[in-house]
Amino acid sequence: MTIARDTSIIKGVSWGQSMNWRVLSDFDGTIALEDVTDSILERFASDDWQDIETDWKNGLIGSRECMARQIALIRASRKDLDDHLDQIAIDPAFPAFAAFCRTMDVPLTVVSDGLDYAIRRILGRYGLDDLPILANRLEVAGPARYRLSFPHANGACAKASGTCKCKIAEELTAGRALSLLIGDGTSDMCAAGSVDLVFAKDKLLGHCRDQGLPFVAFDDFNHAHGLLATLLDEPARLGVTAVFG
Ligand SMILES: [Mg+2]
Ligand SMILES: [Zn+2]
Repeated sequence: MTIARDTSIIKGVSWGQSMNWRVLSDFDGTIALEDVTDSILERFASDDWQDIETDWKNGLIGSRECMARQIALIRASRKDLDDHLDQIAIDPAFPAFAAFCRTMDVPLTVVSDGLDYAIRRILGRYGLDDLPILANRLEVAGPARYRLSFPHANGACAKASGTCKCKIAEELTAGRALSLLIGDGTSDMCAAGSVDLVFAKDKLLGHCRDQGLPFVAFDDFNHAHGLLATLLDEPARLGVTAVFG
């Protein structure tokens, strides 16, 4: 179904007046090709971290409690941690995607329920550590020990997340900016209902389908780059059935 640009809508906002998109991107499994927190725990924490993870997977604890307890199990010097982080790859097309956002004046924010230090260190290798990063804060708690603090937690978060992405999505999109979430997993699910459009893969894709949220499936940032270009230029061509019916 083709809809003329001036009449097509997402949540009642017409395209003509609303090209001021903002992008929120998840980090682990989306920008980074693996879950960075899990990789740190596998390498540097005692095996107890897996039991805590199981409690979280079973819904007994939220991600905030889960991660606070897991991070306390890490024993690693700053150098060991940095050496580990320096081995972690990101999607090779992400730097070009970030550059495209900059060129198009589309603000790009990394929103993660992972570790701010890890994200900044990894993005720094690509000259991207100046991107706004909203994540849990890794703090030094003693020699080779760490703790987590939660500057973006929300007491009312349905998922008891460390970083409440739904609250961030609501705050960042207050006013007239349209918001696009790019993500893959559980931590993205509540925010997916607060944004105007989702580029989704993996678990988040099924969630968007089940909930009838406006989404486009994407594979990687090369694909997302093309999709964003279309969204800015000729959004009706995206064929977002949940939006355009
Ligand atoms: Mg993820
Ligand atoms: Zn939340």
